Amino acid sequence: MIVMKFGGTSVESAEAIRRVAGIVKARLDRHPVVVVSAMGKTTNKLLAIADAAVAGKLEQALTLLEELRAMHLKEAAGLNLDATIQEHFAELEALTRGLAVMGEFTPRATDAVSALGERLSSIVVAAEFRRFGMDSTHVDSRQVIVTEGRHTQAAPLFAQTNAKLQAVIPALAAKQVVVMGGFIGSTEEGVTSTLGRGGSDYTASIVGAGIDAEEIQIWTDVDGMLTADPTILKGGHRVKVCSFAEAAELAYFGAKVLHPATVLPAIEKNIPVRILNSRRAESPGTLIVKTPPASTSPIRSIACKKNITLVNIVSTRMLMAHGFLRRIFEVFDRFETPVDMLATSEVSVSLTIDTTKSLDAICAEVAAFAEVSVQENQSIVCMVGENIGQSQSVAARAFGALNGVRPRMISQGASQLNLSVVVDGADLLKAVELLHTEFFTNFDPEAFE
Ligand code: ADP
Ligand code: ASP
Ligand code: MG
Repeated sequence: MIVMKFGGTSVESAEAIRRVAGIVKARLDRHPVVVVSAMGKTTNKLLAIADAAVAGKLEQALTLLEELRAMHLKEAAGLNLDATIQEHFAELEALTRGLAVMGEFTPRATDAVSALGERLSSIVVAAEFRRFGMDSTHVDSRQVIVTEGRHTQAAPLFAQTNAKLQAVIPALAAKQVVVMGGFIGSTEEGVTSTLGRGGSDYTASIVGAGIDAEEIQIWTDVDGMLTADPTILKGGHRVKVCSFAEAAELAYFGAKVLHPATVLPAIEKNIPVRILNSRRAESPGTLIVKTPPASTSPIRSIACKKNITLVNIVSTRMLMAHGFLRRIFEVFDRFETPVDMLATSEVSVSLTIDTTKSLDAICAEVAAFAEVSVQENQSIVCMVGENIGQSQSVAARAFGALNGVRPRMISQGASQLNLSVVVDGADLLKAVELLHTEFFTNFDPEAFE
């Protein structure tokens, strides 16, 4: 068995789904289990509907709902799914009206709304596969992916999930193409939950590990992992192969092509993950494995995180005192705000966060024992490669190359596979360009193309 996950753009229309059907059909001998995202930008649109309703703009919410309904009916035309689609939209309309009355959007309600995208797309894709002549069956992911109750970011409960996956999927996949929605699951009480934005990749690897698949394929709209984020810098090269650890680090530091948790289940079972392009199926993509062949290149790719906030905390009173870091982190922890990068001196700490929801409250508390200053619109540029730890020249080359860009903070991760700099948002493109030129002008053809 293989798991094949197709992202939103890969299933955005009937035409795109037929292209996917062709790709799947060519691999029927490997017993594909297909995981799909919501069609196109459906998740964003669902959330916009709910936001409008909560903000008291019910008319606007219902107009957006009609657009989304029309899109689904149009792309699923001729599949005999009109009644099913209408049922889902009736549910959405009821939720929308409820939200408008409540004027409040709880995480649990968010999941009820955003899960509709994958609930629908998976039904549409399975039906389109059948029309394409493939024997295909739909499995509601909420029946097999069990999560804890932290709605909008629910972690899978692996023991229950794996037991359900094993009980259901292999028997079906032996005879038919199984199609499931990514991103969604349900709690032990049966309440609909989601794994977090971009979570369909994670679903694919959860399913892959749960059924001992021989490979997990992430089909998307680019040729694979590229040496630079194409939304920042065009002209990056395809990374032919990289390690699980490198892929996880790149994903965590902004390479959206993979959800950060995707490789974790794969690592446990040592299942190779491949990133492939559904619009160029012939491209070999990026293979992610435990130990890739040695490369002469010290770094594999450059990831970026935009709109980062840099927090500088200084307290001369803490000179020679202990407990400073604990006090700081205790505050961030209490407000459930993860810290990404960190640099310390005796009396000061600089750190980056990317959720600013509780920043004012955090600053107010920290101000009780230290001076706090905040710089918004910063970016992290993160060079990732297993060789960084061993190589003496990476930092020298990187900082030599960053001529004219002032690093606001520097960190070489404890994992020894990332070297990150924080730069002002206005300097991001220049920084990535300079580093990319430095590290990828004469690249190792064994590792990149
Ligand atoms: P999908 O809907 O298939 O899950 P995503 O939009 O989530 O697709 O992820 C694919 C996108 O990730 C690409 O279109 C690209 O803009 C972005 N991306 C960011 N960094 C990288 C990178 N290093 N390599 C490839 N793609 C990247
Ligand atoms: N549809 C979800 C999202 O847009 C999950 C995914 O596509 O991976 O976040
Ligand atoms: Mg994605």
